[in-house]
Amino acid sequence: MRVNRAMKAANSWVLASHNQGKIREIGELLRPFGVNLQSAADFSLSEPDETESTFAGNALLKARAASQATGLPALADDSGLCVTALNGQPGIHSARWAGEPRDFARAMRRIEDELEACGDGDRSAAFVCVLALVVPGESDRIYEGRVVGEMIWPPRGEGGFGYDPVFQPEGETRVFAEMTSREKAAMSHRARAMTALIAAEFGHV
Ligand code: IMP
Repeated sequence: MRVNRAMKAANSWVLASHNQGKIREIGELLRPFGVNLQSAADFSLSEPDETESTFAGNALLKARAASQATGLPALADDSGLCVTALNGQPGIHSARWAGEPRDFARAMRRIEDELEACGDGDRSAAFVCVLALVVPGESDRIYEGRVVGEMIWPPRGEGGFGYDPVFQPEGETRVFAEMTSREKAAMSHRARAMTALIAAEFGHV
């Protein structure tokens, strides 16, 4: 394994998230490279408002805040569903379209209504995940993963979360919500962004 700048800097990284599922998943992927991933909760970090207009902007904003507060390399992700015929919406607003408290049945219905209203028959979409890695004293790094597919209706499946019941990846007959978590994790936008990060940071393909 090639030891690179980020590993030399420290073997503890902080993930700018309070989501235990993400911390477990990303922590497991980084462990073979000697990285001990800590969570925002370990440092009682608050979550900054996502005020930027791109996935990369929001991921960087979260990673910079976490790195500044801890002095450690910090990783943050921002993700969402981009529907082509809706000019990439809901995109960075994917969580917000579900309202508060979160109601993804409503958010999925809204996408379907807007697709029907625009009526050009293009149902293509992509799940996008952008990871930002901020290492003190080094330039910031951005990694992206995406899965292309199409919006289906009505919703299907019981697994996953968010928009998984209405997104069918290209080449699949099942939507994300009909896959096991292992099957989805093997092809997800998050997994692809992590693969890009690991290849660039640790020279591992
Ligand atoms: P965040 O980047 O964790 O804030 O996620 C943003 C939002 O994007 C989530 O709340 C979901 O609405 C949506 N999203 C991101 N990844 C997925 C996924 O794998 N399946 C379904 N929805 C997702």
